[in-house]
Amino acid sequence: MASLQLTVLGSGTSMGVPTLGCHCAVCDSADPHDKRTRPSILLAHNGRNVMIDTAPDFRFQAMREKIDRLDAVLYTHSHADHILGLDDIRPYNLKQRSAVPAYTTEDTQVTLRRQFAYVFDNVVTESSVPDVELHTIDGPFDLFGLRFTPVPARHGSQPVLGFRFGKAAYLTDFSTVPESSKHLLRGLDDFILDALRYTPHPMHSNVEQSLELVRELQPKRAWFTHICHDLGHERDNAKLPQGVRLAYDGLKFEVQI
Ligand SMILES: [Zn+2]
Ligand SMILES: [Zn+2]
Ligand SMILES: [Zn+2]
Repeated sequence: MASLQLTVLGSGTSMGVPTLGCHCAVCDSADPHDKRTRPSILLAHNGRNVMIDTAPDFRFQAMREKIDRLDAVLYTHSHADHILGLDDIRPYNLKQRSAVPAYTTEDTQVTLRRQFAYVFDNVVTESSVPDVELHTIDGPFDLFGLRFTPVPARHGSQPVLGFRFGKAAYLTDFSTVPESSKHLLRGLDDFILDALRYTPHPMHSNVEQSLELVRELQPKRAWFTHICHDLGHERDNAKLPQGVRLAYDGLKFEVQI
């Protein structure tokens, strides 16, 4: 049966864990699972590497996971913790002698063009700039033999995309999933979803809300991500029901496609 390998590059919230200047039990924890870089995942299939988001920690994540090539990036939305690593794709442009295609909504493209004006302004410079080819997502699409289905959701007042690929889905940075998207998230083996903390947040699903969604959608396994320092890996995993676990940087598993 065909499969891809999924790697969680980063499982932390926008500030990362440890949080700078914080000395809570989780930020000072010696458990490597409590070191959470900013959120992103890698999908490897047939020698091709597709990333979802380019976090500010992208370079560090790529070194850690020995990512030797990059074939495409999919963007969930345009918040800083999901896009700021874009500049670090340059070595792959040079090595592969080609642009890296980036798949995004039109909204996300507007922000990318603004935040990375030097990438998209077509001004000739003496320094190297990322070579990115923007593609607009307007429905399911195929890449290197993989089918990606966008899963529209809400992230506070703004839209966000999750992605389904085979028997898994990645849905970071959401507060609610509209009924019209739920059928895209049924029948999953693995569901990676936002669960920021226990206390409510206007733009993020919390542990209770994410557990409720997992109960409704019934994936075989659920993995919480975009986790802040309120949750300790060992301590809080012990409180979660069977089949639901905190993701961690470097988590890997096979996904049937
Ligand atoms: Zn985020
Ligand atoms: Zn802390
Ligand atoms: Zn966000």
